[in-house]
Amino acid sequence: MLKCSLHDGNTLPPVGLGVWQASNREVESAVDCAFGHGYRLIDTASIYENEAGVGRALKNSGLPREAFYITTKLWNTDQMRVQQALEESLTKLQLDHVDLYLIHWPAPSQGYFVDAWKGLLAAKEQGLVKSVGVSNFQPEHIQRLQQETGITPVVNQIELHPLLSQPELVDWCQKENIAVQAWSPLAQGGAGVFNSKTVSTLSRGYGKTPAQIVLRWHLQRNVCVIPKSVTPERIRENIDIYDFSLSKQDMKAMDALNENRRLGPHPDTFVNV
Ligand code: NAD
Repeated sequence: MLKCSLHDGNTLPPVGLGVWQASNREVESAVDCAFGHGYRLIDTASIYENEAGVGRALKNSGLPREAFYITTKLWNTDQMRVQQALEESLTKLQLDHVDLYLIHWPAPSQGYFVDAWKGLLAAKEQGLVKSVGVSNFQPEHIQRLQQETGITPVVNQIELHPLLSQPELVDWCQKENIAVQAWSPLAQGGAGVFNSKTVSTLSRGYGKTPAQIVLRWHLQRNVCVIPKSVTPERIRENIDIYDFSLSKQDMKAMDALNENRRLGPHPDTFVNV
């Protein structure tokens, strides 16, 4: 999988740089480093409060607009003010459009996500975003969007890592032609994944780092990834995952690490930080 085709005719780079919990200053050098190693996609969000740093990095890169792919997200408390929230993001990013705009969480108890979706569709009509998608949506949330607007999101960005592999949700999205993108693909660098027996053994066997084994497992499930790092060596390593493939048996061994263990909140109940 070198590029992921979206059902709106656009494509999504399979590996991007996540920038949650990175300061504006850290983001500037991380983005610069990532571009140097062949990344095109940067994944930010208004709630990360680092869109301005991403914007400065884009400007300083001197790259033409079509050379990079920017995702940002609509925060929960902005679901009734999509147009203004998007304009604020674009101003900080110093862009006239983003490539992918996501509803960050359904926050179903607010009762606004269908209206928010209509706002995203309007923004797409206006050319302010190229593709529109969702994050942390369960099938029933997506079905409501489909019923009320007839339009299916192109991407669902969800928590996915070896401890939470969500096979049913991944299958459901893929059958609906929705590209699945993993957040916290490395289980946030902890939770015992890297030093588990399975990952350590595969790491030695393939001569790849534990992070590379985990990211390769995602790609072979047809899941796109946005690992976060601000460390140059890790940024390089996290996209250097195209020169090997895990055998069927080793994919199964990775699948067996699933513990249905979330590191983040549950999409049915999460509303605000
Ligand atoms: P992640 O799984 O990408 O883990 C990042 C951490 O792993 C780093 O801070 C570092 O400690 C470690 N790490 C990174 N590369 C490594 C390497 N090569 N070797 C060893 N350790 C390494 O976690 P994340 O930041 O939570 O998720 C990635 C991105 O997903 C975020 O930055 C953000 O862009 C996005 N995200 C989205 C949502 C959402 O609700 N849509 C939620 C969380 C994160």
